[in-house]
Amino acid sequence: MTSSPVLIASAARRAAEPPRHLADLDMAARRAAVAASGEREFRAGQLSRHYFGRLQRDPATMTDLPVALRSTLASELLPTLLHPVRESRSSGGTTLKTAWRLSDGARVETVLMGYPDRATVCVSSQAGCGMGCPFCATGQAGLTRNLSTAEIVDQVIWCAGAVARGELAGCPDRLSRVVFMGMGEPLANYDRTVDAVRRLTDAVPAGLGLSQRHITLSTVGLVPAMRRLASEGLAVTLALSLHAPDDDLRDTLVPVNRRWKIAEVLDTAWDYAASTGRRVSVEYAMIRDVNDQPWRADLLGRLLLGRLAHVNLIPLNQTPGSRWTASTKRAERDFVLRLRAAGVPTTVRDTRGREIDGACGQLAASEETE
Ligand code: SAH
Ligand code: SF4
Repeated sequence: MTSSPVLIASAARRAAEPPRHLADLDMAARRAAVAASGEREFRAGQLSRHYFGRLQRDPATMTDLPVALRSTLASELLPTLLHPVRESRSSGGTTLKTAWRLSDGARVETVLMGYPDRATVCVSSQAGCGMGCPFCATGQAGLTRNLSTAEIVDQVIWCAGAVARGELAGCPDRLSRVVFMGMGEPLANYDRTVDAVRRLTDAVPAGLGLSQRHITLSTVGLVPAMRRLASEGLAVTLALSLHAPDDDLRDTLVPVNRRWKIAEVLDTAWDYAASTGRRVSVEYAMIRDVNDQPWRADLLGRLLLGRLAHVNLIPLNQTPGSRWTASTKRAERDFVLRLRAAGVPTTVRDTRGREIDGACGQLAASEETE
């Protein structure tokens, strides 16, 4: 049987790795790559300072490099990974969502949020997601592929550049926080995610020099990967997407719960907190008449009492075709009060980015048909 050219082309596209980029490599590997191209090794440091120190992603702007080098070495180690498809702004210019096309045509999104005291970027770790949580837009389309280390890092560098150029209203000119809460399950793309965290936290020129404490990895609760993360020696904040305090309900909202139950996932989170000293953030999307009953607040309070944890309630962002809606403000307030009364620190996430579908769980490759 002969395959159609379309099938062959799409199989080839799936098999193609994203181009290698200096953010995929540690300093030693960058030096080796430069030497392999017949150049002196100090060029690796020079390129790295441009990229991580000055946030320059375009070799043409690196005027201290000889012109010939700019087009060879620089383009070899700084290929364009992210092609902007659409930018949308909301909240008076303090939120910017960018939809990207990757080198193989896959789509991802990045959301940059400015606050008076900080600028935070929400990055994607995968194109799509294979975890199938029914309330999440990203989960509905399934997994397209893992992002490379550099495809994750470059989202941050692009945003750090935008912030430094003053393109986001009302925030400092330095990007300080990264949350892995965009498309994808970061711990299902473990090696690249951890590598990206190292690149983001290593000092310039090896990396961007962010504080580990200012990086948050949000996970659906992949227990073996959470255990492995605890042994990495990284003090990043872990956010655990719990969404229900009882297994019956969590089995339906977060399908991986059928594999790793609440007791096991929470024990693993407490081990993480003990080994890193970092308070775990328990994420809980408030879904009307589904998980927002007073008894569930009380049960959640009992599960978390005395633990190094706080609860972050997320008003559900209703996604197209979903049968669920956000809890009423009254139910939300009651839930907060019950958790606080039980001694559990609790906050409600702001709904930044909603108008541009940039809020949690709303990211979906809506430009798919362009
Ligand atoms: N896959 C990871 C990280 C990306 S999702 C995770 O699930 O943790 C980031 C956060 O958004 C998670 O807490 C997720 O449960 C939440 N989320 C997903 N869809 C949502 C929706 N429609 N409304 C509110 N929060 C949502
Ligand atoms: Fe994937 Fe997170 Fe969405 Fe679940 S909530 S489908 S794990 S992105």
